[in-house]
Amino acid sequence: MKTYNVAILGATGAVGQEMMKILLERRFPVGELRLLASARSAGKQVAFGDRTVTIAETTDEAFEGMDIVLGAAENDISKRFAPAIKKSGAVYIDNSSAFRLDPDVPLVVPEINPDDAFRHNGIIANPNCSTIIALMALYPIAALSPIKTIVASTYQAVSGAGVGGIRELEEQTAALVNGGEIKCGTFAYQIAQNLIPQIGGFNENGYTSEEMKMQNEGRKIMHAPDMLVSCTCVRVPVVRSHSISLTFVTESPVTPAEAAAAVAAAKGVRLVDDPAHLVYPMPLDTSDQDLVFVGRIRKDLTNENGLCLWCCGDQIRKGAAGNAVQIAELLIANK
Ligand code: NAP
Repeated sequence: MKTYNVAILGATGAVGQEMMKILLERRFPVGELRLLASARSAGKQVAFGDRTVTIAETTDEAFEGMDIVLGAAENDISKRFAPAIKKSGAVYIDNSSAFRLDPDVPLVVPEINPDDAFRHNGIIANPNCSTIIALMALYPIAALSPIKTIVASTYQAVSGAGVGGIRELEEQTAALVNGGEIKCGTFAYQIAQNLIPQIGGFNENGYTSEEMKMQNEGRKIMHAPDMLVSCTCVRVPVVRSHSISLTFVTESPVTPAEAAAAVAAAKGVRLVDDPAHLVYPMPLDTSDQDLVFVGRIRKDLTNENGLCLWCCGDQIRKGAAGNAVQIAELLIANK
């Protein structure tokens, strides 16, 4: 069997660690696995199946001989090493937002726009996690009638801010229980027993950078340059899985039953919608698995062509690591 040499840039982080799990679970044909992080992590040993891999410090030379680089580092690190990755000849599948809106870089959700992946020039971007989860819920309905506008409210788990976010919620929760001091670092305010209605910095229009991703990235993925999105992103004291409330308007009317049937038949999503029996998506149920759960599908009471729904998905898996490995699978299947 042909194998591929794979590097993970940011291998010690929330997304990087999940990438390793998913490569194993999906039996990705990994030849050499190179785990790269900062100098702080260099020398640590990590198990990958029956192999033990030593984390190396990321340098320009670290990508030589690799076929695929899975990026799980922040924007500045991604930009810093992208030229070296390109020089190595590897395809770079990046989870940061550094290149997502670059016209030369495809932005891919394999269930929605797989063909875009093949138009790459060395870099393929993985979309924003909330955008992936929202569009996974919407793409089956958009196939019935294009979506014109979306109003979205996100409820984003602390792990969306990386391992530091998980640690902060755990430490603050313990401090609340034990009477210790509440310390904030990753988040500007206490997140335990709180909600923070800001993710990313504020733009002049009053929306945050995270909120604008839903429109800007959504248009590119859906090939819908005129789609309008108003989004509010909220950090919630949930460890894992983002939840999103969506109210959206389609070009022609779609009934809730038609939307539900489309979701039920689509890949990558599960219809979880039986309110009479208290059945709806919840983040605890979507954690540590790959499907986006969709429920509470109902008519919008403010617009003839409007629908509302609620969806949840594991943002470290489908919103990041899993989607990136799926893109790598697309590439090797095509070869
Ligand atoms: P994280 O847990 O904070 O991990 C960051 C990773 O970057 C660590 O492996 C860290 O290594 C590495 N790193 C830091 N400085 C470095 C340097 N100078 N050189 C090389 N590596 C360095 O972050 P994360 O949540 O996994 O996020 C990774 C990326 O995915 C970010 O761009 C994020 O926006 C994106 N993303 C995250 C999620 C999510 O749900 N978490 C979802 C979608 C997209 P050390 O351990 O050595 O510091």
